[in-house]
Amino acid sequence: MPQLWTRARLATATLEGRWTERSDMAFAVDGERIAWVGPQAEVPEPYSGWELRDAEGRWVMPAFIDCHTHLVYAGSRFNEFEMRQRGASYEDIAAAGGGINFTVRETRAASVDALLAQSLPRIRALVREGVTTLEIKSGYGLSLEPELRCLRVARNLGERLRVDVRTSFLGAHAVPADFRGRPDDYITYLVDEMLPAVHEQGLADMVDAYCESHAFSVAQIERVFRAAQALELPIRLHAEQRSNQHGARLAARLGALSCDHLEHLDVEGVRAMAKAGTVAVLLPGAYYFLRDTQAPPVKLLRQNEVPIALASDLNPGTSPIASLLLALHMGCTLFGLTVQEALVGVTLNAARALGLRDRGRLAAGQLASFTLWDFEAPGQLAYEYGVHRPRAIVHRGRNLL
Ligand SMILES: [Zn+2]
Repeated sequence: MPQLWTRARLATATLEGRWTERSDMAFAVDGERIAWVGPQAEVPEPYSGWELRDAEGRWVMPAFIDCHTHLVYAGSRFNEFEMRQRGASYEDIAAAGGGINFTVRETRAASVDALLAQSLPRIRALVREGVTTLEIKSGYGLSLEPELRCLRVARNLGERLRVDVRTSFLGAHAVPADFRGRPDDYITYLVDEMLPAVHEQGLADMVDAYCESHAFSVAQIERVFRAAQALELPIRLHAEQRSNQHGARLAARLGALSCDHLEHLDVEGVRAMAKAGTVAVLLPGAYYFLRDTQAPPVKLLRQNEVPIALASDLNPGTSPIASLLLALHMGCTLFGLTVQEALVGVTLNAARALGLRDRGRLAAGQLASFTLWDFEAPGQLAYEYGVHRPRAIVHRGRNLL
């Protein structure tokens, strides 16, 4: 049944990326889409007869988009956290069998049901905040069957919660123990066997990789990206998190959707991203959890008009934080984003980072995915963490909450 929402206050990015807030608005929803948006006083003829929904003066915002998560994995690393808090180093933790290899072992050994059961609370936490589109990466299987299993679980989670999950194949996340010292051989296995199978089964919407001195070099990443592009899969990159490897330059030159982290990005990298229209996905949760001290070059990104998105980076090793609203808050407090930049960063620019043009703002033709709020002003979401929860969550025209 088509609906006309009245007495709404609308907060949304424009197509150009400017944040706007308007009172006394109305909007019409037809099935999965927004049919019309405009002032309450100017509702055109057909819509005025549609089923009325009264927003009672509440704020309506586009549903949030978490464009970078690793939320499908097995095994908790709280032991490691306890060790770290008692003063253990990364080397101590690795020697005790911790770190990413622990997660890989646990994930490889986990059944589909176990992966689902462990991942559900994480995705639910995000959805409760008003996230209705999210990205989930593989990258804890690091061999064919477990990678396929994790991607299937990611798709399944989206169906169960009736939200949209976009998947990234992140086989190039780390060199697995069985290829230790042989990263080039692992990349060959990835390119020749894993990627074609993942693509054949339609399990990856994008291909991601991790460029870092302890992960993969620019030359190795380029092999992955060329193979992805031969299959017409979009690419994105974990780049310049702990050091400047000039990965962002490569990714931008190849037309990547996004480069993520970027603490050590230099001006050439910023310019390359600006030229390519590559989105900068900032991940304050990892910066915070690692107690990093070098923040991404937000001023340079801003000056060069690189679109900025924010994401949770939900993962067991460096960002065990199932909250996009906390990333929104920390994007302001830790990285110096304006409130408006942060809000655009979890809506419009997060959609762009996933290559999605049909969501992330409230306008005719966009998906009817939006949230209702009781706060005085949307900026309160950036200012105070933990206080606000959506009053209603609508995704593709259906009530989730
Ligand atoms: Zn990540």
